[in-house]
Amino acid sequence: MSTKYTRGSFQLMKSMNRSIILNMIRKQGPISRADIAKQSRLTPPTVSNIVKELINTKFVIETTQGTSKGGRKPTLLEINVDYFYILGIDVGTTSVKFVVTNLFGDLKDTTSLEIPAFPTNENLISIMKEGIRLLLSNGNNDPGKFLGVGVGMHGIVDPEKGISLFAPSFQLKNIPIKEELEKEFNMIVNVENDARAMTLGEYWFGHGNDADNMVGVNVGNGIGAGLMVKGRLFHGENNLAGEIGHITIDLSGPKCPCGNYGCLQTLAAGPAIAERAKKELKSGTHSLIRDLVQGDLEQVDGKVVYEAALQNDEFSIQLLYQTGRYLGIGLTNLIHTINPKRIIIGGGVSKAGPYLMEGIEETIQSRGLTDKAKETSIVLSKLGDHASAIGACVLILEEFFSR
Ligand SMILES: [Zn+2]
Repeated sequence: MSTKYTRGSFQLMKSMNRSIILNMIRKQGPISRADIAKQSRLTPPTVSNIVKELINTKFVIETTQGTSKGGRKPTLLEINVDYFYILGIDVGTTSVKFVVTNLFGDLKDTTSLEIPAFPTNENLISIMKEGIRLLLSNGNNDPGKFLGVGVGMHGIVDPEKGISLFAPSFQLKNIPIKEELEKEFNMIVNVENDARAMTLGEYWFGHGNDADNMVGVNVGNGIGAGLMVKGRLFHGENNLAGEIGHITIDLSGPKCPCGNYGCLQTLAAGPAIAERAKKELKSGTHSLIRDLVQGDLEQVDGKVVYEAALQNDEFSIQLLYQTGRYLGIGLTNLIHTINPKRIIIGGGVSKAGPYLMEGIEETIQSRGLTDKAKETSIVLSKLGDHASAIGACVLILEEFFSR
């Protein structure tokens, strides 16, 4: 399959002046050529030439007339937002989500595919290929208009090489995602850890847009964080930064799949919530959960606990409150390490956000070192279920708009 926007055409777009102008139109559009020249200090002929090229390549369109101080009204410029698409993939632990977005991260199409138990590297790659083919072959999506594919993958990822170095949920190593997908589809493919992708998505299109120092925390089957420092994702020396699911919260806590005891995710991730609920219910605690799973305690998962809380089940509400307290300890550690302006909580468990928030806030209030630490804003993800997949799209947008 051949598409127009291969790596070569990206390089053409990447002149410094072009990206200055393109970003100005993206962030401030509709904007006039004159205002671009004034703000960028580029000469009006330079601006004119580059804008002409951006219009020819369909990235920018002329739009409604602006207001004029006498004389001819200036024509304004804006991003041709729906002319191009990005494909985003979020590889979870049980399923892979696929989305198509426009240049402003708006969802245009979605699908998802199940991951079989104990997948191999080849299984995962072929599921990704199948989902991409499904969305490219949807009649509404012109394959020639796709700028690239972004992939958010749980575990340790090398974004430079586009390799999943270690996916703990599958015990898989060295999955060459970028290489395999670029070979198959002849499109740019960028790969990143899922929590980092989520953080990037929130930074561009969600609740993070005014916070250059911020953290996105993905709470699902595991817990991971994306650290945004001065507007750039921070990876650390070996792409390990943000593995907060494995900071120790309780020395004598439950055993974690990583081999340690009392890691944050053994106390606050989805499976941990389910385990604590089961343990209490087995010892006879009264709860609506028992009815919701018709007495079969093996069916208890984080979702059932949340559903019971929604129906005012006191046990479930308390359990989620306690989970919020554990999360609050993890977030307080983050505040003291990174000092972010904002922490954004996403992932499946964040759906129970209203029940977690009280415990989170209380803990930060009682443990934060200074008043400013206590004032750190904690919010739930704006992009919700698709945050990591939309964030994966930003991996392509970021490359495209970057200098
Ligand atoms: Zn651990």
